Amino acid sequence: MPELHPRIQPIFDEVLRRNAGEVEFHQAALEVFESLGRVIAKNPQYAEASILERICEPERQIIFRVPWVDDAGRVQINRGFRVEFNSALGPFKGGLRFHPSVYLGTIKFLGFEQVFKNALTGMPIGGGKGGSDFDPKGRSTAEIMRFCQSFMTELYRHIGEYTDVPAGDIGVGGREIGFLFGQYKRITNRYESAVLTGKGINWGGSLVRTEATGYGAAFFAQEMLKTREQSFDGSRVLVSGSGNVALYAIEKVHQMGGTVVACSDSSGVVYDADGLDLDLLRQVKEVDRGRLSDYADARGSASDYRADSSIWSIADATHIDVALPCATQNELSDADARVLVDNGVVAVAEGANMPCTPGAVRIFTDASVLFGPGKAANAGGVATSALEMQQNASRDSWTFAHTEERLEEIMRGIHERCVETADEYGEPGNYVLGANIGGFTRVADAMLALGVI
Ligand code: NDP
Repeated sequence: MPELHPRIQPIFDEVLRRNAGEVEFHQAALEVFESLGRVIAKNPQYAEASILERICEPERQIIFRVPWVDDAGRVQINRGFRVEFNSALGPFKGGLRFHPSVYLGTIKFLGFEQVFKNALTGMPIGGGKGGSDFDPKGRSTAEIMRFCQSFMTELYRHIGEYTDVPAGDIGVGGREIGFLFGQYKRITNRYESAVLTGKGINWGGSLVRTEATGYGAAFFAQEMLKTREQSFDGSRVLVSGSGNVALYAIEKVHQMGGTVVACSDSSGVVYDADGLDLDLLRQVKEVDRGRLSDYADARGSASDYRADSSIWSIADATHIDVALPCATQNELSDADARVLVDNGVVAVAEGANMPCTPGAVRIFTDASVLFGPGKAANAGGVATSALEMQQNASRDSWTFAHTEERLEEIMRGIHERCVETADEYGEPGNYVLGANIGGFTRVADAMLALGVI
């Protein structure tokens, strides 16, 4: 583990002590702290105002019971979370995750990352995150609705368009946002469109929001490739996951002339040597809500399904230029990174949050692989959520082309900010450093201006 700046080490020790057992949060905090040594040395005002200590402590953490009745009439109990991390730049903003692995440490790591990501977009949004250990897999639509209604029956009192604006994440897509918004509207008697983002197009949603995170990750990777006079055109690409982010990353890579040869879910991997059939994939995942094994069955001999296999090992068998991890945290291990590097990968951009282990990130950067951290590469989702809030505030709706243009412009801006910041701090090409410092200084300066609150 690299050494931390002597002023930062005790702050990190205190984070470990106060947040015992929250390993993903420790990992996320350490990753930011490793970038901040020179910032703290150059800007003593941050240390004097205890900005780092304050930034690691969420403004508010809410944990609540979510009781609901399943189709068999049994009462089920889940735990709900909303961590309102930092509102120096605007209302708390960040998604809701429904997955059985969710606990406070997951939500805190995601909320912490969100603070810097949102700052990096240059938009007026603070950072937060929420969710539940509810497992939507195998549940009927009626059960999902009852769960969402019960979840919102507690959450509604903590959110609002000027306070905290949740959106989707793993296990929370357009259907769930609909049920959550319906219950909010019913309880409050307010059609407050901008209280949630990721809404349906005909009731306050924004075009491109569904596509935004995946498209944005592809745009970001394209910007990184340009710095080496390369592009997606003619490239072979791996995209992990097969959810919202993965599907639209695949779509944009194909539009840019690349070929995505594999994707995954938590049960297995499909490898189609000549490229995935995106129309079929969307039918299976978005319409039928099926599994990748169903896709492989429908595709027949063009598809090779590998149960319980790692998608990254495919780089051993075929040449891969770009990897886009778009599933979940710590899904790309040190060993996976080694396989990708040994087989000539040029760029890796994180569509998911923290999908690469710290060791994997070091292997990529030591090998001069272009590496785009999630804070920068997947910020297109939240940026388009902010565009949705803008449209709601002005009661307007923009065209697909205009919104996509804004997204592309925002991703280019984030890329530029990372590159310029890394140059300024003497580490050209280090996107991790650029993203961490670029995001941190914007939040830290706002916190200084707002006083000790
Ligand atoms: P979805 O629920 O739509 O899809 C998640 C995908 O990842 C599914 O294919 C799922 O497979 C797979 N997955 C989940 N857990 C694992 C696991 N342990 N091992 C292997 N595969 C797994 O979520 P999203 O696409 O919305 O989110 C994906 C990532 O992107 C997350 O890290 C999220 O935080 C991040 N992100 C999402 C944004 C958004 O706008 N949606 C914005 C920014 C970041 P299975 O179906 O088998 O569970």
